[in-house]
Amino acid sequence: MNLSTTIRKLWLTLWLRCPHCERGAITSGLFRFHETCPVCNARFERREGESIGGTMINLVTAELLTMGGLIITQAFYAPPVWFQLTFWIAFNILFIIFFYRHARALWIGVAYLAGYVYPDEPPQS
Ligand SMILES: [Zn+2]
Repeated sequence: MNLSTTIRKLWLTLWLRCPHCERGAITSGLFRFHETCPVCNARFERREGESIGGTMINLVTAELLTMGGLIITQAFYAPPVWFQLTFWIAFNILFIIFFYRHARALWIGVAYLAGYVYPDEPPQS
């Protein structure tokens, strides 16, 4: 698989699309994930606990953005400490909630690139 295909597959999963067929949805709500793709029947997670990779992507991204944002706003604007803490704690919590499914889907893309996302059997039609 070449670099442009790899980037396209990861980009698609970031937008919650199946990396195998590129059409099916990975999620069915804010926190609900399909076990298999509704279009091609690819199983997204084969082993229990596989979603921990997505959780790590989510937490590391949230902490990097929060700490980077806090340092930059402190350096350029020096707002009061109460504002910094309130804003960045709220940002951190909201980011973790709303980026969760994208981070977990990105991990499904990584699993696909490693060869772990493929259909169990032909789709029922
Ligand atoms: Zn699919």
